[in-house]
Amino acid sequence: MEGYGTPSSSDLERLRRVLGPEDVSTDRYDLLTNALDAYPGELHLPDVVVWPETAEEVSEVLRLANDRRIPVYVRGGGTGLAGACVPVYGGIVINTMKMNRVIEVRPLDLQVDVQPGVIYDQLNAHLAPHGLFFPPDPGSSRSCTIGGMIANNASGLRAVRYGVTRDYVLSLRLVTPTGKVLRVGANVFKSSVGYDLVRLLVGSEGTLGVITDATLKLRKLPKHRSTVAAYFDSIEGGVSAINAVRQEGLDPAAIEFLDRLHVELISKHSSVLLPTHECMLILEFHGYSRRGVEEEVRAATDILKGSGVVQIELPHSADEEQRIWEARKALYPSVMRASKAPITGDIIVPLSKLLDTVMKSYELGERYGVTVGVAGHLGDGNIHTNWLTDGRDTDSWMRAAKANAELVDYAISVGGAASAEHGIGIEKKDFMSTQHGESLDLMRKIKELFDPQGILNPGVLI
Ligand SMILES: Cc1cc2nc3c(=O)[nH]c(=O)nc-3n(C[C@H](O)[C@H](O)[C@H](O)COP(=O)(O)OP(=O)(O)OC[C@H]3O[C@@H](n4cnc5c(N)ncnc54)[C@H](O)[C@@H]3O)c2cc1C
Repeated sequence: MEGYGTPSSSDLERLRRVLGPEDVSTDRYDLLTNALDAYPGELHLPDVVVWPETAEEVSEVLRLANDRRIPVYVRGGGTGLAGACVPVYGGIVINTMKMNRVIEVRPLDLQVDVQPGVIYDQLNAHLAPHGLFFPPDPGSSRSCTIGGMIANNASGLRAVRYGVTRDYVLSLRLVTPTGKVLRVGANVFKSSVGYDLVRLLVGSEGTLGVITDATLKLRKLPKHRSTVAAYFDSIEGGVSAINAVRQEGLDPAAIEFLDRLHVELISKHSSVLLPTHECMLILEFHGYSRRGVEEEVRAATDILKGSGVVQIELPHSADEEQRIWEARKALYPSVMRASKAPITGDIIVPLSKLLDTVMKSYELGERYGVTVGVAGHLGDGNIHTNWLTDGRDTDSWMRAAKANAELVDYAISVGGAASAEHGIGIEKKDFMSTQHGESLDLMRKIKELFDPQGILNPGVLI
């Protein structure tokens, strides 16, 4: 984009004065390690990386950037799958790694105040002694940050019961692109006081402000839990079992789907060997009493049998359960080993359209000559179609991109969405107008209101 500045030596000097010299770097290694996330896209180096520790420091960085119209990109764990923290126009990367304090746990309020750079699994390890947890649980839980999860409205394995990040953010402190420090929201479970700016900011992919702390609602850890793994000889059987479980009114915490390709990749590339059938479901039930959980497992098992299941595993120990969830968490790393540049779809459709959409993925794979596998959080309609390509910008990558775009159009045409949890980033911007039509103009105006100079995460989302 025209008209952006680059940091001059006096800008770098000002940054060093504000943050301290050790928290400002133009070292090539630091520039490289802050350039990419998990999206196999193009490489863009920033000019400088900074590691602020307070909202005031973030504010100073943004004031400087706004005065000089220097692009700023916010980076959490860098695990995003859509390139949403990639410094497309160079400039400054704000890395939140040093804003990593759990500020206060308030067990009676079921709330925690947390800085954005805290890693998801570390937050839950901190909460466990209080019998509490923050549920969204993305597959990247070992390395993604709370700030990145809020900015992407991340969710994951247990959204089917517990919902998504947006359902848990009560209030936020943010620094606007002009350097103003604001608090939005209130630390209560409901309020009816005008526009809901918290909901606007969650999922805004770092384009409206830098989140410097957040108050999150928490849940009590379930007293009892149980996992079921079920294997089917047809895709139709597995998908119809998902619909049957939901229709029966059971309340599983997770319903995950893996097709044959993914099961084979996990068995090949991870330490877990899974039985190979056409598809596999993993269900998890949580509850207050053991008997309640056992009843739900029994009811689910009956439903699975009615849907043509060929093998059911009911793990009898925490280790056995862990093994099954380890397999699920090995999904994306296994896909990355099988393809240099996979395209990972993230559509969501109404539950009645699940089977059609899964079958459409295979039809498109065949039509475009691309190896395709389907997995995901199908219990809430979220389908991750993985297109395995020979590398970025190869012929197979182009064909996969076309197939994926057609699948996204299909999902939107049946009332679904282009992305359920990974976000738009730089990867899926073309889908924004198909999804939103004229309301995209309203979003552009909101962006201008927060960020008149267009300095924060330019090139991302809008
Ligand atoms: C193996 C693997 C599995 C995954 N599984 C899931 C899954 O199950 N569910 C899911 O939802 N996602 C999943 N993801 C995607 C990704 O992990 C999530 O989107 C996660 O929320 C990104 O967090 P992060 O800290 O890595 O953010 P980053 O990638 O660093 O950034 C993501 C976005 O957040 C913005 N951002 C970061 N911090 C702030 C802040 N403090 N203020 C404002 N904006 C900020 C960035 O600018 C960017 O726009 C997976 C990724 C991988 C690699």
